[in-house]
Amino acid sequence: MESQRVEKLKTILEEFRNTVDEKDARKLELGKCNRIIQKLGSFSSECEECFQHFIDLENHIIQLVDKVDELIENDVKHHKQKIDNISSHLQKQHKLVTSGYYLSIYMSIGTSLGIVFGLLIFDNIGLGLPLGMGIGVAIGAGLDADAKKKGMTL
Ligand SMILES: [Zn+2]
Repeated sequence: MESQRVEKLKTILEEFRNTVDEKDARKLELGKCNRIIQKLGSFSSECEECFQHFIDLENHIIQLVDKVDELIENDVKHHKQKIDNISSHLQKQHKLVTSGYYLSIYMSIGTSLGIVFGLLIFDNIGLGLPLGMGIGVAIGAGLDADAKKKGMTL
């Protein structure tokens, strides 16, 4: 994918974002959409599926821009499905993660382990729970920061 084409689509999306209100922008996950365009653009030279997704998303966004004044619930739903579909491809095939992905995993692992070890070692959930959760948060946040640094965050 030529980077010019990627930049052009990002500009179109940016302009679209300026025409909708904050609430719609959030509903349509335009921030995520922007990151997805970037990722599809960078993977499309080696991944046929990303290339197809890019073209599909490009057409879809141009359509959205066309009817910005008459967006209905169905358009939002349709849009979300597309974004979800593409995100799952990016996560499965290209090992990308959503932001806060590791935090949520490690926090729940830490919390469960904290309860178990709290009971086993300290005979006290109140002691184990915050400790386990704290360690989980520390590990998860570290991994999230690392993924972000490596550009692996969606
Ligand atoms: Zn791909």
